[in-house]
Amino acid sequence: MGGLSAALGAMRGEARWIGWPGTVVPQALEKRVGTRLSKDNLFPVFLSQDEEEDFYGRVCNDTLWPLFHYFQGRLRITPEAWARYVEVNERYADVIVGHCEPDARVWVHDFHLMLVPAMLRRRAPGLSIGFFLHIPFPSSEVYRLLPGREQLLRGVLGADYVSFQVGDYARHFRSSCLRILGIDSDPDWLDLDGRRVGIGVDPIGIDVAGFREVIDDPQTERLLADLEQQYEGRKLVLGVERLDYTKGIPQKLHAFERFLEQDPERARTTTMIQVVVPSRLESPEYRAQRDEIELLIARINGRFARPGVTPVEYMHRDISKPALVALYRRADVMMVTALRDGMNLVSQEFVLCQSESGLPSRWRGALLLSELAGSAQVLPGALLVNPWNVDGVVEQLVTALELSARQRQRRLETMAKRVEALDSRRWAEGFLTRLGRYSRRDRRTRRPPTVDAALEARIRRRFARARARTILLDYDGTLREFEVHPDLAQPTPEIRALLRDLASIPATEVHIVSGRRRRNLEQWLGRLPVHLCAEHGYLAREPGGEWRTLVELDLGWLRPIERLLRRVAADVPGAHVERKSCSVAWHYRQAEPEYGSWRARELLNDLHQHLAGASAEILQGHQVIEVRAQGVDKGLYVRSLFPNGREASHFVLGIGDDRTDHDLLDALPPGSVAGHVGGLLPSTRSGGGRREDIHIVGPGEVRAFLGDLVASMAEPAPAPA
Ligand code: UDP
Repeated sequence: MGGLSAALGAMRGEARWIGWPGTVVPQALEKRVGTRLSKDNLFPVFLSQDEEEDFYGRVCNDTLWPLFHYFQGRLRITPEAWARYVEVNERYADVIVGHCEPDARVWVHDFHLMLVPAMLRRRAPGLSIGFFLHIPFPSSEVYRLLPGREQLLRGVLGADYVSFQVGDYARHFRSSCLRILGIDSDPDWLDLDGRRVGIGVDPIGIDVAGFREVIDDPQTERLLADLEQQYEGRKLVLGVERLDYTKGIPQKLHAFERFLEQDPERARTTTMIQVVVPSRLESPEYRAQRDEIELLIARINGRFARPGVTPVEYMHRDISKPALVALYRRADVMMVTALRDGMNLVSQEFVLCQSESGLPSRWRGALLLSELAGSAQVLPGALLVNPWNVDGVVEQLVTALELSARQRQRRLETMAKRVEALDSRRWAEGFLTRLGRYSRRDRRTRRPPTVDAALEARIRRRFARARARTILLDYDGTLREFEVHPDLAQPTPEIRALLRDLASIPATEVHIVSGRRRRNLEQWLGRLPVHLCAEHGYLAREPGGEWRTLVELDLGWLRPIERLLRRVAADVPGAHVERKSCSVAWHYRQAEPEYGSWRARELLNDLHQHLAGASAEILQGHQVIEVRAQGVDKGLYVRSLFPNGREASHFVLGIGDDRTDHDLLDALPPGSVAGHVGGLLPSTRSGGGRREDIHIVGPGEVRAFLGDLVASMAEPAPAPA
């Protein structure tokens, strides 16, 4: 069973389905099984016994399932099995690209395949990729326990559109992206490596038309008549769950027991029918769950049964659709006490079956629903309960049984409208429409090509053949990874060696063009044979030379703005102020991330007001807001180096990672190479065709790229250009 297959059943035949056949298929039979399934548009990914145990059993069921449902106590982490999760996801990605056009729409489902979106993007960047999580996404405080937390987030973010059952899960996901990856987002999207990833909410619904057919099925009507006869004059409380610890079945039974304790006579008028659909019985944990449920039921029946009256009737088996619908139709109260549930389709099915015509009004029932199930956020007429509060559940159960026919009817009508609107077919259409919106947008963004072997070989040739070379590098986020505090981001021995090697190539100048203070650059890089440019172009020095300013400035605004930033920093633990010669910066990398970025937005508003008319400008970097004198930017420095442009045989390369580097890259003379690191896209000012834009993933890749340029000089000398 499972909500996913039920909901997607409505769409069969319209798409190619790629998935695990649900059992281990002997290798000798794989081909035959594959051919047979392909006739129904089904394409299998085969797993061996070991893979099934590690991927499905250990990672999906023993790690991700409990963690995402907040069951930390049941969390089991097997590091060796994680490698298998990665492998199986790779296999899926391979099978998928083997079965679709390079620009197809691919919709990846659920926690089993969270790495697949990024794997697909690497294999086929032209695909339009959507990801939907059927289970909850937990609070970042819980999610962060997962050893593979970063990998999983990056995997999902390979998609163009990522969506969740309810707004809370999307909020948790965004908060995890911020806290774990340091990526801030808007409510609807975030930007990653120059791509926009849409974040949405698409609550899944049921196959409304399919259920209507079952309601009208004569067999359902016969079964309903049987139930009516059997339970005439009695109130029926119904529970339908797959056997799982997330479903809160023991909690429900405890509440029912308390309900009978309060008044044992209630057993004469009220019966609970509990359907438990067998699931994962190969696991000792699930068998223990079943035993616990059966013991509880035996205890309740032992305490409250009378001749001819069994308070709890129990079915531990799969039941047919007509039998299920007949129960939904006849029940007086549907009781859902899940401790966590991504959505909970049973509650929606109950609402639909109850609200369809043909039922006598005395049978119209009430829905008692756990506030910890996703469906609590889409079914406004339910009586909500906290399943851990036994007395609260009993109270709501009594209310549910006592609601007047008119009250029940009104509640059902409001909910039925929502259930129809959530219909699984519409859900799929809605998701795909939003996916289309984001993937089209992504194709429109002007992302330069990522350095690959062919592109790099071409640049290396130009580099090696040049008569002179100038390399302009931003420091933080380009040459060196960020640290929690700027003082910790010293150059590593590898970086120093790299800069020395580059600068020792004949006729080659290396310039570090940074926003940092001169003292900082001098201390860290002053002994290297490189040019230093500090404070975004305000100060510069040649290797070993004296610092000089590039312009005269009016800095009257600087003190008051510094006072303002210091006041705000005092209110935000972790934030600090950095004062430079012609600018002042407010850093919040160490502040609580959500509060920090909220205060940063507030501060930006204040700064715009304070600075009206002043010759200063505001810059937003990575978790830093900087106010600096107008007329000073990295472009000023670059232009001072090339007053007459670039000679044809002069190779010029600039690399940067944030918006302040747009000034650097835009000022490069025509014909230069401009490297955009991470999420930086070419600015709108840059004229097309004037320079060669490339995308470099991160500082590690920048260093590797520069290292290759050094190495290209050791190769046999090519003829000069
Ligand atoms: N269901 C089933 N067999 C049964 C009883 C119920 O397949 O014997 C279906 C039920 O109709 C519903 C699904 O199982 O569509 C359960 O979905 P839900 O979202 O409530 O829980 P999940 O099992 O997905 O966690």
